[in-house]
This record gives sequence, C-alpha cells and structure tokens, in this order.
Amino acid sequence: MSAALVFAVFAVTLIAATVFYLFFYRTWRRERELKAPFPALWRQHLDSNVPLYRKLPEPLKRALEQRVQLFVSEKEFYGCDGFEVDDTVRVTIAGHACLLILARPYSDFDEVSSILVYPDAYHVRDIESDGLVVSESHEIRAGEASSRGQVVLAWKECEEAAGKPHSGHNVMLHEFAHQLDYLDGTADGAPPLEGEQARHWQISMTRAYEHLRHSLHHHHKPWLDPYGATEPAEFFAVLTEAFFQQPGHLKHEQPEVYKALQGYYRLDPTTLWQDA
Ligand SMILES: [Zn+2]
Repeated sequence: MSAALVFAVFAVTLIAATVFYLFFYRTWRRERELKAPFPALWRQHLDSNVPLYRKLPEPLKRALEQRVQLFVSEKEFYGCDGFEVDDTVRVTIAGHACLLILARPYSDFDEVSSILVYPDAYHVRDIESDGLVVSESHEIRAGEASSRGQVVLAWKECEEAAGKPHSGHNVMLHEFAHQLDYLDGTADGAPPLEGEQARHWQISMTRAYEHLRHSLHHHHKPWLDPYGATEPAEFFAVLTEAFFQQPGHLKHEQPEVYKALQGYYRLDPTTLWQDA
C-alpha cells in the first residue's frame, strides 16, 4: 500500500471517528446523563448559592438543572494553591455559567473544557518581550478566560458574587460571557450573530460603548462599571453581568442594548426577576 493511500485511509478514519463522536456518541452520552435524577443536595446548593435560580419559574429551574448536570459531568474542575473543589463549588460555578445559556443551546459551552479554582484572588506574573525590551508585570486577578476553553476563578470572589445578586458584579457571569464571545474565534465583544440581529448588535453596542467612554472622558458618572470601557470584549462581559443582575437598571439606561442582549440570551430578566 502506498504512503498516500495509507494517509488517505487514516484521514478518512479520523474524520469518521470525529463525526461519530460529535453527532452520535456525545448526544447519546448526554441523553444517558440526563436520565439520572438531579441530586437533591445539588438542588440545595443551587438554592443557597445561585440566588437567581430561586426566582426562576419551575420549567426554567428544570432547564438550568439539566444544563448544570451536563456541565458538572463534562467539565474538568481543578483546585489550585491547595484549594479543594467539592460539589458546592462545582454546582455554584456551573449554576452561574449555565444561567447564560439557560435559553440557548447547551452546545455553546462545548469548547469550555476546564475550570481552575483558586481559593482567593491570585497573583499573575507576566513577561513580555518585543525583541529589544523585556517587560515584567504583576497583577492580582479575580478570574480570567482563555480562548483555549479554560476559565480561572477565585472562589472567594465567586462566593461574594453569589451573596450579592443585584450588585452588578459577578465574576462567574463575566468570565463565561468571554467564552461565548470566543465562539466566533475572536474576543471582539460580539458573540456569533447573523442578519438583522448582528446589524442591530453592531449599531447599538458601538453607540453605547462610545457613550460610556465619552462619559468617563468627561468625568460624568457612568451608567455601567467603567471596566467595560477598556475594550469591546470587556464591554460585553460587564454588560452581561448587568443584564442578569441589574436588568431593570440596564433596560432603563440603555433600552437598545438591553434589546440586543435579550435577543442574544433569548431571555427577558425584567419579567423573570426584579432589581433589588
Ligand atoms: Zn473580562
């Protein structure tokens, strides 16, 4: 058999195996996973640590539980700096992450592979070189997301966020929003959208982003967390926090932005729960 033929057979087998995994095995495994009852203890964790879960109507509670069940079974959780990941940690993080895809396909998180959890805000040392100068920076972070499907979170920040459901800050919603942004290959502040929805997103978000930057430039009190003005990707992540945690305020301040997010997330939080 020639080398070219061996390569062709290998390539066809690989493609067939990938198709089988993506379309049959994964679906079958998920269906099997959902046949198991949702653990009563996990429901207690959602009740205590995911405040928005408590406010959902029953059908949406069940939908969130199903997504949490898949998320916990498929994603790898790692404790860092001696932190021990238990079911409280897994369900709390999964519960917040899955709020974002509550009315969207679960496959939106297919690319998320692992969640690293530190006990508290963690220290990052970054070294950059342009060939001439090597610069070193140190940062304290509460969380981060990478385009390779990894999310890093500081548990203390997650616990604080879980205790303040109307504060406008939630590191879990923030970092998983970045994962949705990565789905089209770039962190540009726009998740995959098409047609009229993409056009409306582009217009309303650009206008609101410029408005936020303009307010900050003129030292006016901004309508959103100023961190959202650093770049469009952060704008989307910060807006997502506001959309879920302060929907009434966001809708009042920026109705077109709210409409764009409502279209993308396929939810209207103002009808599901109220701001504090
Ligand atoms: Zn961010």
